[in-house]
Amino acid sequence: MKKSKIIGALLGCGCMAFASAWGSAGDGSFTMADFASVDKVDIHVHINTTDTALIDQAAADHFRLLTINVDYPDFPALAEQRRVAHALVAAHPERLAYAAAFSMQGWDEPDWQQKVIQLLDSEFAHGAVAVKVWKNIGMSFRDAKGKLVMIDDPKFDAVFEFIRRRNKVLIGHLGEPRNCWLPIEQMTVNGDKEYFREHPQYYMYKHPEMPTYEEQMAARDRMLDRNPQIKFMGAHMASLEWSVDRLAAFLDRYPNAVVDLAARMGQVQFQSNQDREKVRRFFIRYQDRLLYGTDTAQNARDKGQELRHEAHETWLRDWRYLNTEETFKDPELDAPVHGLGLPRDVVRKIYSANAERWYGNPWHAAEPHAAAPTSQVSK
Ligand SMILES: [Zn+2]
Repeated sequence: MKKSKIIGALLGCGCMAFASAWGSAGDGSFTMADFASVDKVDIHVHINTTDTALIDQAAADHFRLLTINVDYPDFPALAEQRRVAHALVAAHPERLAYAAAFSMQGWDEPDWQQKVIQLLDSEFAHGAVAVKVWKNIGMSFRDAKGKLVMIDDPKFDAVFEFIRRRNKVLIGHLGEPRNCWLPIEQMTVNGDKEYFREHPQYYMYKHPEMPTYEEQMAARDRMLDRNPQIKFMGAHMASLEWSVDRLAAFLDRYPNAVVDLAARMGQVQFQSNQDREKVRRFFIRYQDRLLYGTDTAQNARDKGQELRHEAHETWLRDWRYLNTEETFKDPELDAPVHGLGLPRDVVRKIYSANAERWYGNPWHAAEPHAAAPTSQVSK
């Protein structure tokens, strides 16, 4: 605890050499051998079936999970996502927590807010720890007059105020990676090239009539300006994945915001290939504001063994990048990647302590190990 505070203070005055040397020391970082035993949280997955393949792999790899419901047309209807989340969380409370979502259907009706609040009240009673809003707000949903609804629309405020009063987290996947507004050949990571080829409806470079990247970010910021007390988790690095400088400015401006790293490690690696020390400095400085996640999705059609293998490989690859100083190949980039070798204290926060703090440790209650007397849980 003390050590990381000292480093934080040093970083503030720009004394990077010491922090870097300390973090690079062999005993300062976890190794690949530590992966299996360190307690970890993947704060961004989507389990859309009651099959337990991902939960089983999480147990094998010492992960707890947050499965996030989302108003996404490629996923089952929200009612089905709710049914799955309720069943899985009830069966695996030590392993799985969930985030609810609401639909934009009925937006133009006068009782839309009231209905959404009723739904969220019921979801919180089922144990939901957060509510996710998705990029359909800002990128596809239109009101009865044909106007695109943005996230700073005042009609959301009553809903956000309800979430805040219940001390739940608002998870926002708003906008898209900046690559979405670029021609394919200028995109920085392979995953984006593939996704936007396959989802032209969300590929904004092809839709110049739609809001720009900066307009999406500005709408999100105006929403946070109006709801400064809400606990916000910017999914996918708050769509500021392309620049640790921009993300640092966002985190400085919004002290009640954290971000997850889900499905954006490639963009981080793209930056660390250009300036590794700068990216490493960012992780150390914002160690309390970053939550590990992958965006792994499990759908009914997925084969359990394949899904388990993929999830395990993704978790291992990210562990290698964040913890070791190895040079290796990541499918997101054509060039090899050099691991950040982050200090253990920083990794513990990014991998579990921040998630527990932000979400009130929803996995804790039924954890078999938690049976120990509280006096043993020392600070
Ligand atoms: Zn997701």
